[in-house]
Amino acid sequence: MATSRRDYYELLGVSRTAGEAEIKKAFRGLARTLHPDVSNEPDAEERFREVVEAYEVLSKPETRELYDRYGHDGLRGGGFTPTSFDLGSLADLFGAFFGDDLFGMGGRGGRARGADVVAQVEIELAEAATGTAREVPFPVTIECATCGGSGAKPGTQPVPCATCGGRGRVQQVTRTALGEFVRAHACPACGGAGQVVEDPCLDCEGSGRMVEERTLDVEVPAGIHDGQQIRISGEGHAGALGGRAGDVYVQVRVKPHPRFVREGNDVFCTVDVTMTDAALGTTVTVPTLQGEIELELEPGTQPGTLRVLRGRGMPVLQGFGRGDQRILVNVQVPRRLNEEQRRLLEDFERSASAETYEADEGFFQKLKSAFR
Ligand SMILES: [Zn+2]
Ligand SMILES: [Zn+2]
Repeated sequence: MATSRRDYYELLGVSRTAGEAEIKKAFRGLARTLHPDVSNEPDAEERFREVVEAYEVLSKPETRELYDRYGHDGLRGGGFTPTSFDLGSLADLFGAFFGDDLFGMGGRGGRARGADVVAQVEIELAEAATGTAREVPFPVTIECATCGGSGAKPGTQPVPCATCGGRGRVQQVTRTALGEFVRAHACPACGGAGQVVEDPCLDCEGSGRMVEERTLDVEVPAGIHDGQQIRISGEGHAGALGGRAGDVYVQVRVKPHPRFVREGNDVFCTVDVTMTDAALGTTVTVPTLQGEIELELEPGTQPGTLRVLRGRGMPVLQGFGRGDQRILVNVQVPRRLNEEQRRLLEDFERSASAETYEADEGFFQKLKSAFR
């Protein structure tokens, strides 16, 4: 194993006069960010090993003194070899160095937290626009009422695990030049619970858990998008033998709307007008998320005209304002004409000229004519 030639104080980012507590604190902080479990940096493992080595040397008075006086060479001369270890989980490593749980969450070998539940709810686009409430049913494991979650037959108790003496962890000791290096693992006999059930509860077969159909009232916020999830903490599956319950993730599906296509916070729709209505001008009824409105189309409305209703789109999720509604005008051309209609259109065509179809001056044309 490559050993570091870098200055140990520098590696930990502490001064040469740093006390024991300061060194420990610096190491904990660095190990949390550099451990390959959490860091994606390509050199994380190498840097992590360097930091561990620095901590090993500086956390013990004998080796620290050797290092202070004679540097790296002094340590080699003094027979120091850094601990060779495989990179276990971060929680195991902290257990080994500090004899504690990493994030105070029980870590490995604690009472297992319950699993998360994923449920689904389907709503209409109009409901997504206003926000809605839904009762969401889902099966969930709960603590067994018969045994109170202990898994033991009523009148009996789980007994401490003989393998780990009730601690839930077993320790593996490695001897090094620096003394014993202890790593802890979840006890294989009890799975980390620290106790075993000898006389299992008949209702839950010793698991301490049962399945129940539960219904939650879920508030779906206005503006939610298809596929987004709402997390309800602590309502998921019960943990093993009294462990914390998991969470519920409610996935929201927004049904496709027959008239609207959603694009972000905007909604898009089309409206049909006949060729003659488009030519003569008309009023059309247009659906919006808040009900129908009348939209005026001026004479000479062209196919593909896009009208925008500001603020008629979807509300911004957990924000302010709304998107827009965009309306595409589709002009319908007759497909089947009777004799009379054909004659009328032929008459119309004879009376029409290029001017009949000429576009109004656009903005640029108006600008040019202003300078003429
Ligand atoms: Zn039970
Ligand atoms: Zn055990």
